[in-house]
Amino acid sequence: MARLYGGIEGGGTKFMCAVGSGPEDIRAEGRFPTTTPEETMQQVVAFFKQAEQVHGRLDSIGFASFGPLDPRPGSVTFGHILSTPKPGWSNADVLGMVAADFDIPVAFDTDVNGAALGEWRWGAARGLDTFIYLTIGTGIGGGVMANGELVHGLLHPEMGHVLLPRNPEVDPYEGFCLFHKNCFEGLAAGPAIENRWGQRAETLPPDHPAWELEAHYIALALSGYICVLSPQRIILGGGVSSQQQLLPMVHQKVLEILNGYIQSPLILNHIDEYIVPVALEGKAGILGAFVMAEQAL
Ligand SMILES: [Zn+2]
Repeated sequence: MARLYGGIEGGGTKFMCAVGSGPEDIRAEGRFPTTTPEETMQQVVAFFKQAEQVHGRLDSIGFASFGPLDPRPGSVTFGHILSTPKPGWSNADVLGMVAADFDIPVAFDTDVNGAALGEWRWGAARGLDTFIYLTIGTGIGGGVMANGELVHGLLHPEMGHVLLPRNPEVDPYEGFCLFHKNCFEGLAAGPAIENRWGQRAETLPPDHPAWELEAHYIALALSGYICVLSPQRIILGGGVSSQQQLLPMVHQKVLEILNGYIQSPLILNHIDEYIVPVALEGKAGILGAFVMAEQAL
C-alpha cells in the first residue's frame, strides 16, 4: 500500500500542514497562525489526528521549521527552536510537542532544507546532487544539498547572514539585521527595501532603482556561494525573488562579478538555466516535508 506522510512547514507567521505522499496526492491541508508554540503545535497535532481518522494512519511526519533551530539528532536541544526574536519561541521544543503524540518517526530540519528537498524531488533541482535553494522574502535563508546530502554541519547554514560590502554613497541605508547590519538579509530582505525606499517592496514599480540595487546585493551573495560551494544550480524563491524584473539583472551582475573566472559553459552561456526561479511555488516546503518523512523511515 502507498505510504502516507504528514508534512509541516513551520513559518514565522503561519504553519502549513498536509497529509499525502506527493504533489499529485495531497489529501488534506491545514493552515494555522503562528501564535505561541503550545497553541500552534496543539493545532498541528489536532489536524493530523483528525486526518488520520479520515485517511488512515500516517507512516511518518516531516517537520520543516523556521529557525534558527537544532537539527542534530542526539543533541539535548534537538528539535528546539534556538534563540529567536520571535516572542515565546526561543528554546521551544517544537519537535517534542508533535512527536509526543505520535508513535511514528518525525524528521526535523530547517524550512529551507525542506524546500530544497521538495525542489530536488519534484521541482527545479531534479537530477542534481549539489545545489542551493535560497528564499528572499521578509528574511533570507538558504538550504544546501552537497553531493546528495543536505548540509547541516555545526548547526545549519545561515546563508542570509553573510556580510556584504555597502557603498554609503550609493546606498546610505545601513541594514536592519540586529546582529550584523550589513549582512545579505539586513541589506536585501523585504524590510530593508521598505526601510530604504519608504514603501513596501511589492508597491515599487519594476523600473524603480530599488531593483537594480537589490540585484546588486543578490548577485554579490550568489557569486560568493558559487565560489564556495560550486553548486550545479541556484534556485530562488520567496516574495522578493518573484519580482520578474529582478532575475535578468541578477544574471547580468553575477556574470560581471565572476568576470569569466568560473569557466563553466552553464554560467558563461546559459546563466538563465543556472540561476532559476522555484518550480513548486508555495509548495516546495510542504512537499519537501513529505520527502523528509519518507527518508525518516
Ligand atoms: Zn545578519
